[in-house]
Amino acid sequence: MTTTHDVVQDVVIVGAGLSGLMAAIRLGTAGLRVVVVDKGRSVGGRLATRRVAGGRADHGAQFFTVRHERFGRWVEEWRQIGLVYPWSHGWSDGSLASTSPDGHPRYAVQGGMNNLARHLATQAAASGVLLRTDTRVTALTPEGAGWQFTAEAGTALRARAAVLTAPVPQSLALLRGLHLAEPERAHLERIRYEPALCALCVVEGGVTLPEPGAVQRPGAEIAWIADNQRKGISPGATVVTLHAGGEWSAAHYDEPDERVEAAFSAALAPWLAEGATVVEAQVKRWRYAAPTVLHPERLLRASSAAPLLFGGDAFGEPRVEGAALSGLALGDALVAEFTPARLPTPAPAQ
Ligand SMILES: Cc1cc2nc3c(=O)[nH]c(=O)nc-3n(C[C@H](O)[C@H](O)[C@H](O)COP(=O)(O)OP(=O)(O)OC[C@H]3O[C@@H](n4cnc5c(N)ncnc54)[C@H](O)[C@@H]3O)c2cc1C
Repeated sequence: MTTTHDVVQDVVIVGAGLSGLMAAIRLGTAGLRVVVVDKGRSVGGRLATRRVAGGRADHGAQFFTVRHERFGRWVEEWRQIGLVYPWSHGWSDGSLASTSPDGHPRYAVQGGMNNLARHLATQAAASGVLLRTDTRVTALTPEGAGWQFTAEAGTALRARAAVLTAPVPQSLALLRGLHLAEPERAHLERIRYEPALCALCVVEGGVTLPEPGAVQRPGAEIAWIADNQRKGISPGATVVTLHAGGEWSAAHYDEPDERVEAAFSAALAPWLAEGATVVEAQVKRWRYAAPTVLHPERLLRASSAAPLLFGGDAFGEPRVEGAALSGLALGDALVAEFTPARLPTPAPAQ
């Protein structure tokens, strides 16, 4: 039996988050042999949804917006199949019982944000892409005219091109002694992320968050509080997601769960319905939640002979949309590189 180890793939993508999956679909539909590897138990990365106490909660990305036509076309397709829906047109800061809409839709995903990643993984598989979860890549080394990927548990993969979509410090850690030309290394080392502390609280008795079930206070210690039941993804239980802002998260990142939980509980207290109680709370830490210093382009291609491309939400633009557009740009770049330039049409015989 031929396994993925024996075959030299066209492309191996590290990371089955949104950017890796979008790149995989673009490359797979262009007929290239692609493997996507992710250290997680399932696909999605920061598009993360967790089952909690009979309910469900998004604990990474909460919603997304559309600013660019290319991403808009994908979103329209997802909307038409009922995968995504506009959750809101603005957020309350908590000072009013309802939100005044700003006309700008914020989309959520049916059943939780992770379902978008699952949908894309199915689409990628249908275009011939192989997906391997539970596979942490530990090193990337040049081999022949391409790359070798070493993974935990002794797995090795070979490919003509490497695409790295993990948060950049994690991608750089794979390169070990590999020489990256300047200024490429400097560009990559300049990229920065802020962390996020997050709590998922199961509430018995309900919460009274303003319409449409969320409060956003940019810059505040606890910047986001959202009721996943009102959002529509947790019919069986009231599960509230709370996110701390970047500054507070950095300052408290290594504190014990109980201390962090206490701060989140205090922020939730004003929104508990009369007699309601928090019956379960979980703390989640995202070390690389959101880029704060980005690379200005949607990808960075190293000047190595064999293609080595970096992408993700720190390239071009942040957030869900930025990750998706970076993924598509990674795919475009490799399709162009692997498609032989068209020969000029011969002049007609005299
Ligand atoms: C708390 C939080 C709230 C957010 N809220 C929003 C929001 O409301 N709206 C919005 O638009 N965006 C939001 N975001 C940002 C959004 O989630 C990201 O921009 C987007 O999901 C990033 O996708 P990505 O593919 O670039 O990276 P990721 O999703 O991080 O994917 C990278 C993948 O690489 C894998 N990986 C890493 N190292 C290795 C390795 N060595 N081997 C194998 N696999 C590896 C990881 O497991 C991961 O799956 C939020 C993020 C967080 C954390």
